[in-house]
Amino acid sequence: MRTTITHKFVETVPDHVEDGIVYVSLTYATAVHRCCCGCGHEVVTPLHPKQWSITFNGEAISLSPSIGNWSFACRSHYWIRAGHIHTARTYTRAEITHLRADDQVLLDQHYAHRPQRPPDDPTESSPKWRGGIKAWFQRLRRP
Ligand SMILES: [Zn+2]
Repeated sequence: MRTTITHKFVETVPDHVEDGIVYVSLTYATAVHRCCCGCGHEVVTPLHPKQWSITFNGEAISLSPSIGNWSFACRSHYWIRAGHIHTARTYTRAEITHLRADDQVLLDQHYAHRPQRPPDDPTESSPKWRGGIKAWFQRLRRP
């Protein structure tokens, strides 16, 4: 099990995915890396509001939530946090089944969602709020 991982921002995921690198394609909203246990499996983490999110602190990346390779023989489970790998507990088969069901429910909900007009935000058109922003900008301009 490796303890650190670097990253590469790429346009498309390369044919050869190297160990110890998370390839991040913003174009395709996908990250790919090889399982950190060393088993060699490619782990694809789609970047999506209901799947994974990536954060870049200027030096290293984090992926959230954790990476659970339930479908691989290794069943490894870890977090990638600022380029470091933190091993997480291996879930039991029952827990995995449960998690998968949850994921599916979330995905179903997401895709069933019809775009809706957001509810009116009272602060949005409030003159008081706008005045506050204006004052803030004026303060910025002041030498
Ligand atoms: Zn593995």
